[in-house]
Amino acid sequence: MCSELRHHPARLDEMRNRAPSTLIVLSGWATVRPTRKPSRPLRLMADRALGLRDRPALRSAHRWMSRLKREVQVCVLSSGSAGNCTYVGDGHAGVLIDCGLSTKQIMTRLEEMGLGAAPIDAVLVTHEHGDHIAAAAVLWRALAARGRPVPFYMTRGTAGGLPLHVQPDGIEFVRPGDTVAVSHLQAECFPILHDTAEPIAWRVHLGEETVGVVTDLGCPTAIVAEKLSGCDLAVLEFNHDEEMLRTGSYPESLKQRIKGNRGHLSNSQAATLLGQGLSPRLKTLVLAHLSEANNSPTKALESALGVLHNRGVSDEITVHIGRQREALAPLRVGAFSGVRASRS
Ligand SMILES: [Zn+2]
Ligand SMILES: [Zn+2]
Repeated sequence: MCSELRHHPARLDEMRNRAPSTLIVLSGWATVRPTRKPSRPLRLMADRALGLRDRPALRSAHRWMSRLKREVQVCVLSSGSAGNCTYVGDGHAGVLIDCGLSTKQIMTRLEEMGLGAAPIDAVLVTHEHGDHIAAAAVLWRALAARGRPVPFYMTRGTAGGLPLHVQPDGIEFVRPGDTVAVSHLQAECFPILHDTAEPIAWRVHLGEETVGVVTDLGCPTAIVAEKLSGCDLAVLEFNHDEEMLRTGSYPESLKQRIKGNRGHLSNSQAATLLGQGLSPRLKTLVLAHLSEANNSPTKALESALGVLHNRGVSDEITVHIGRQREALAPLRVGAFSGVRASRS
């Protein structure tokens, strides 16, 4: 079709005057949405589609492409100390961030959320705690059986801390601060404070949209706040309520570990971090890694909404709460649902 169009200027003119939906049919893309400017991958696709020769047609196609957007979806499959796994993709490429529940559960939950056939091009690992890595070896084999091996990106420190039976083949090393290309997605990692060898958090850039998954933080840091400020959708740890932890049944040593500078964020610490990293970009917030013993969805939500109210943006940001035992329905990045806070 590309060469046919290139040799038929009349059809190119016709294309210029058509609605963007024409290009949806040509390209198979699913969503139309205005954007500020065409992203580089979209421009490259336009170049390829029109053969790089007809400059006016190319400019016109770029304009159309700027109105088109792949639908970016984020699905928090599981969140909490019994397992963490989040899918980020746009229908053409995708990644899993962490794989801390069984491969069977990951696949089942993807299926239940309508993402059974969604592409998984890489697994981005944050650290070696079992609730983030438990499925790695089995998941690597399951994904390889789909037709091609999938890289598992992690730091050397994380890889060194993996029990042998959990180690996947196909480990690719990253250093905190690296950005790796996964198909047309860019995955960027940055350091966090947590009680493991070399923990990181990830942001995924899909065109102009950025998704951040930031949990297992000992305390708020400037770098995490800065990374948060560039996110359109953020999955952010709200682990525990300080009073519930203090009066709860956990052994004192475990309480100290959780509230230490390399443990987990309390609701008030998370609220502080949210306040530091809040920017006009943020449209969707998922409260994540809630402790079932030392927190409640209501308390976490109160903390988050308190910040959003104070900043006058509670009507502009949709808040969800990640679940441990079932997946959250897929969230569309950049979209405001009109619901101020949601537990679904
Ligand atoms: Zn964890
Ligand atoms: Zn951890």
